[in-house]
Amino acid sequence: MSLEKLARENVQKLTPYQSARRIGGSGEVWLNANESPDCQAFSLSDNELNRYPEFQPEALIDGYASYAGVDSSQVLASRGADEAIEVLIRTFCEPGVDRILICPPTYGMYTVSAETIGVEIAKLELDAQFNVDYDGLCQADAKLIFLCAPNNPTGNMLDHDKLCQVLEAQRDKAIVVVDEAYIEFIPEQTVVPLIKRYPNLVVTRTLSKAFALAGLRCGFTVADPEVIALMMKVIAPYPVPRPIADIATQALSAEGLDVMRSRVSELNRLRSEAVDTLSGLKMVSEVFPATGNYVLARFSDSASVFKAMGERGIVLRDFANKPRLEGCIRISIGDASEMAQTLAALRELDAL
Ligand code: PMP
Repeated sequence: MSLEKLARENVQKLTPYQSARRIGGSGEVWLNANESPDCQAFSLSDNELNRYPEFQPEALIDGYASYAGVDSSQVLASRGADEAIEVLIRTFCEPGVDRILICPPTYGMYTVSAETIGVEIAKLELDAQFNVDYDGLCQADAKLIFLCAPNNPTGNMLDHDKLCQVLEAQRDKAIVVVDEAYIEFIPEQTVVPLIKRYPNLVVTRTLSKAFALAGLRCGFTVADPEVIALMMKVIAPYPVPRPIADIATQALSAEGLDVMRSRVSELNRLRSEAVDTLSGLKMVSEVFPATGNYVLARFSDSASVFKAMGERGIVLRDFANKPRLEGCIRISIGDASEMAQTLAALRELDAL
């Protein structure tokens, strides 16, 4: 008997999330995982590694609450936003009974987490312009609804008035999760202020993108205190290792926030240059709204572009085999020299 047969049936059938690291690749310019190009130096101020960390380190939670403009009782720290997604499903969905609803094309981990846990996935496709179908959401029958704004990979944002209608229609029926992993690149669009009016709204955030700390694995949930208390029943006993809390707290200090904000303005500037260049290329038929630290574009022959860029040591993310994203490649925004190299290579391919 193979050991595989011992695994839960849904695990036997599972295709794990194809992260940029798992896909791999080789090159010098890494623009495939929406990481930040610069790396800030931190030193540890807490070396008491013989001691377990606090369940939810107070300085970290207070720091994030103050940054997000909420009360500390509304914040939960986790191992990246990915763990928050999983904990939400484990908290609210009964395997085999409840379902989550996703609006594809969108981030892949909602599906993978639900499949791992054995929770059914309902889909409400984004409309022709890749906007959320708000009427459909008002009618939806699901325990958890996952939205993503900026949406990865299409960049679409949410219409706040229509979102409020969904939250009202789903009050007492469903939790609506808005994944704001990239919100720092368009901070005025956060839905966090709506939590006061709609306790069924949950926002997930991360330090992996604008804070340039993907390697740290630190994310947050911002929600009504009742939701946070429920998630605290489910999450691991020590979800935030001491060195992580230490560094993340420094990143959330006034100086840390200044560094993050100046990084964001530089990346947004480089992003608009990238959008301008892409929009002028003959081989590009569509440039999606660019709202995060990435831009998605549709190419007439994306397979050869992807390959040719790879040969030049520039690693991009191929979405061509995803439904409705035929010919699409996502380009993360790197630093000025990486972007100059990337845009020059694209212009050169366009001229062939
Ligand atoms: N949500 C979205 C939309 C993402 O793109 C990502 C990162 N790929 C995550 C969540 C996960 O973030 P973290 O690194 O905090 O787990």
